[in-house]
Amino acid sequence: MSKGLKSVRGMHDVLPDQSHEWRALEKVAATTLDHYGYREIRMPIVENTALFKRSIGEVTDIVEKEMYTFEDRNGDSLTLRPEGTAGCVRACIQHGLLHNQQQRLWYQGPMFRHERPQKGRYRQFQQIGVETFGVAGPEAEAELIAMTARMWRELNVPEVELQLNTLGSPEARQRYREQLVDYFSAHRDRLDEDSQRRLESNPLRILDSKNPEMQALIESAPAIADSLDAESSEHFERLRAMLDAIGVPYRVNPRLVRGLDYYTRTVFEWVTTRLGAQGTICAGGRYDGLVAQLGGRATPAAGFAMGVERLLELLREVGAAPAPVAPHAYLVAVGQGADQAAAALSERLRNDLPALRLRVNLGGGGFKAQFKRADKSGARLALILGEDEIRSGQVVVKHLRGESASQSSHDYAGALAELTAIIDSNGTDQ
Ligand code: ATP
Ligand code: MG
Repeated sequence: MSKGLKSVRGMHDVLPDQSHEWRALEKVAATTLDHYGYREIRMPIVENTALFKRSIGEVTDIVEKEMYTFEDRNGDSLTLRPEGTAGCVRACIQHGLLHNQQQRLWYQGPMFRHERPQKGRYRQFQQIGVETFGVAGPEAEAELIAMTARMWRELNVPEVELQLNTLGSPEARQRYREQLVDYFSAHRDRLDEDSQRRLESNPLRILDSKNPEMQALIESAPAIADSLDAESSEHFERLRAMLDAIGVPYRVNPRLVRGLDYYTRTVFEWVTTRLGAQGTICAGGRYDGLVAQLGGRATPAAGFAMGVERLLELLREVGAAPAPVAPHAYLVAVGQGADQAAAALSERLRNDLPALRLRVNLGGGGFKAQFKRADKSGARLALILGEDEIRSGQVVVKHLRGESASQSSHDYAGALAELTAIIDSNGTDQ
């Protein structure tokens, strides 16, 4: 295939032998969110460029060099969303969702960033994002974190560490910023090009550098703890106490900052050591200033986003990826009038058993070829229609797996009973 006709670099198809993993993960996330009272919101994939510049911050990797920005036919500057919070806040303001009420919201979908593609880093990637509006206290972050920890348990996500930090109030950040400028200026010769630029524009972001050569310098940088304001300190203490109370372990990482400018106070990341450099599977924090910054009435807010590809890569890495769902039965039919009999029987069964996963043989073939397909499908049962069965209205039920490959002939009611037993034995598995 010529390069021009292939998928765009860093953007991937999810093929059928993996799409079930996505669905299983999405189902766990959607169910958990539902149980905690979070409601889904769906925003457009494209927004006005100004929205991202104003919210994410002009001096961030995303806005400086990662956005897919283009002019539409009217000459308007539009951008494929690089993240979901900006669009979510925009939608809330636009539709008056924040007036005198709290909101717990979530969304999922593709995000776009022009980064260097590598394992765990793509140009189109999928996020599940969650936001809480109107709650000033740390119980908002605690709930978000507890809910995420629950999802990890449901999904069998192994060994992820919760890292926690606080960035304090905007004033505390300003004081911290000055300290950082002093520190990094004294080591100017050790700063890479990006960091030198950030020293003037946004020194906090130097701490978020991914350059390994910068890490030692960053490790020794001053921590924000010394510049913290009393309210932010107390907020952080209360959050920590709540996490202790619900039994979610964490590590305070005093140099954790986030790649976006809008965070205040709490920031957190869930990090694994099993995915190399792209080890953060979920990240978020509090952003009390953003709603007002985008023209809404000042509203406290907190949220996070998880990276679906990284999460699934981690599950595959440890053999915990969700298994594909096999059909309960495969319908084999051979002989005069076989297709019609198979269609009639299968539709009748589907009417009577809405949970039935039944794959009907299509395109004919002899018994041997059809059984091969039945076997490959992973079905527990084969339903068999031969000339005799078609004539007599019977169906042969053959167990394909397990102890005995037994088979027996049934009338319709008997076949229904066999299928019902198989569906029930699968428990809640749909
Ligand atoms: P990183 O530090 O890895 O670049 P980030 O701080 O830019 O991440 P966020 O904007 O907070 O990431 O996005 C939340 C989550 O989305 C990340 O923790 C990660 O799991 C996922 N994510 C971010 N960028 C990508 C990408 N380019 N490809 C795949 N997943 C991504
Ligand atoms: Mg990034």
